[in-house]
Amino acid sequence: MAELQQVLELLKKLDARQEELAAQIETIKQNQLTSSSSSHPGPNPSTYPVIGSTPSTPTTPAHVPGTESIPCSSIPSSPRTTSGGVEQLRLTRGSFSSLLPSSLLSLSSSPPNGSATATATGTGVGNANADANGTNTPYGNLSLEAASHGAGAPGRLSPPNASNHDGADGKDKDKDGKKKGGYPSRVVLTTYPSQAGINPIPINWGAGPTARERGPVVCSRIKSNLLIRNSIGAHSGSYSIYRALSIAMGQLRTDWRPDLTNTHPPFVLPPTEGWFGDKIVSFDPWGAMSQEIWAKEYAEGLDVRPTISQTKAHIKIEELDVLARKGEFPIDGDIVIKSPELAAFPGVDQGVEVNTYKAAVDPVWYLPGVAARLGIDESILRRALFEDTGGMYPELLTRPDIKIFLPPIGGMTIYIIGDPAKLQDPSTEVTCRPHDSCSGSDVFGSDICTCRPYLIFGISEAIKCAQRGGVGVIVYLQREGRSLGEVIKYMVYNRRKRGGDSAAEYFDNTERVAGVKDARHQVLMPDVLHFLGIKRIDNLISMSNMKYDAIVGSGIEVVNRYEIPDELIPADGRVEIDAKIQSGYFSKKQVTDEIVRATKGRDWGESS
Ligand SMILES: [Zn+2]
Repeated sequence: MAELQQVLELLKKLDARQEELAAQIETIKQNQLTSSSSSHPGPNPSTYPVIGSTPSTPTTPAHVPGTESIPCSSIPSSPRTTSGGVEQLRLTRGSFSSLLPSSLLSLSSSPPNGSATATATGTGVGNANADANGTNTPYGNLSLEAASHGAGAPGRLSPPNASNHDGADGKDKDKDGKKKGGYPSRVVLTTYPSQAGINPIPINWGAGPTARERGPVVCSRIKSNLLIRNSIGAHSGSYSIYRALSIAMGQLRTDWRPDLTNTHPPFVLPPTEGWFGDKIVSFDPWGAMSQEIWAKEYAEGLDVRPTISQTKAHIKIEELDVLARKGEFPIDGDIVIKSPELAAFPGVDQGVEVNTYKAAVDPVWYLPGVAARLGIDESILRRALFEDTGGMYPELLTRPDIKIFLPPIGGMTIYIIGDPAKLQDPSTEVTCRPHDSCSGSDVFGSDICTCRPYLIFGISEAIKCAQRGGVGVIVYLQREGRSLGEVIKYMVYNRRKRGGDSAAEYFDNTERVAGVKDARHQVLMPDVLHFLGIKRIDNLISMSNMKYDAIVGSGIEVVNRYEIPDELIPADGRVEIDAKIQSGYFSKKQVTDEIVRATKGRDWGESS
């Protein structure tokens, strides 16, 4: 902890120094403006000064039109509420709009002469000067009208009264004609709990019985939400980077928010016991209902977005056609339906398709809960996440008061076959396959592993279970190559093939390339089962002891485990299966040391 403290102190000093430099640069820049308009070679340093210094920083930067800063005056921050969520805040502060620091309100209406030295005067005055055009409102750059319609607007659309807007068309160039990419010229590198105006909306992870007691997940850096957000990271997991590219290219406004009209789920996964307490720490169980729960606050400008979306779909996979033809499961017209004929092939049987409900889930980590699950200290978790993303999220260190992190990683998809409402009924038979993604096999049919056959086996067992009156669940987790990634995975393949691919060497090869055998950390996986209300899995379609231990360890009973049937294992995938069985994976087969040594994969000579 002492080490962490040192890092924090250093960061603060760095910020203070950068603030001083920023002020100097602004002064120089202003002087230059009067005599020259020549552009500077290389990056313009004035685009990267820092604010976020401690309130005691003595330097007051000179302001020029178009620049802005969050003032560092010593506004008494409102008492932190530790429970009660937004409702509580409404009671204590009147309305959501009063949550927004008045400093930001002043900034959004700073006069053209640019003296945006906003003075924070406390809470409760935010909405006083609001007008219907969106200027001088707590809604940042959104018009009140647009916000009340769900806030969505095509990315490049200029908001009303855009003269002061950062990033509005034609307004995103500085005096030298350089593009600023739609952002304010001053950068907030990080924030600190002690900083003036910092006032995160309380969030009480695991609280209930409704989302109001828990509180909204707000991780937005748009101007009107920056000081009240209660989460680090960004929405959409790894796709947040692509969104950044769209913004950088001017295709999307920096303050854009989605139009959520009609995006709510077509089926309900209602709150259940597992939503409260510490059973779910890696995503937000309320994430699919944001549109409804926080509709009013969203219209008012609170940037709370859905992190789960649910829809209905058909699954159509060739192997399922074959299994249906073999009579593995009937075409019941409900769960399994007959595929319509294709006009190009009259009279040709197009096989079957399967009715499913599905949900896409983005990661939302409750850091104390994730740390506890992994059995480590929260500060170590924060430090590791900071360091090993190249310092990507400094607030992991500077904002220990913020407990939520939306990491830039893949999420998962839940496929439900049968009636989702029955999952919470303890008398329902449940078949479940937790499946970690493997595009090489799942999509492209590689035969070096058993992923796709296992997935098909899981889906067909899920169908049969649903047809017996139960519910089948496939959880598809975005975790390529045991969360080591495909680049590592293919290097391991090469190493295996060059080393005479044997089951005996299987795990050793991975460990030598990746340092670890596996980085999936299955202890977080059962969250999704608790989300669905599953208390017992009658048929677990997995032979992984790591998955089994995690599920049982989280308090869910597992009645039967099923390994992949022998006849579905491709020849080259035998190495993986035998190595897994020998290392302790569940199987009815006995794999001796001798067998493991004897099990060899295809070498490259035979492979093409
Ligand atoms: Zn695979």
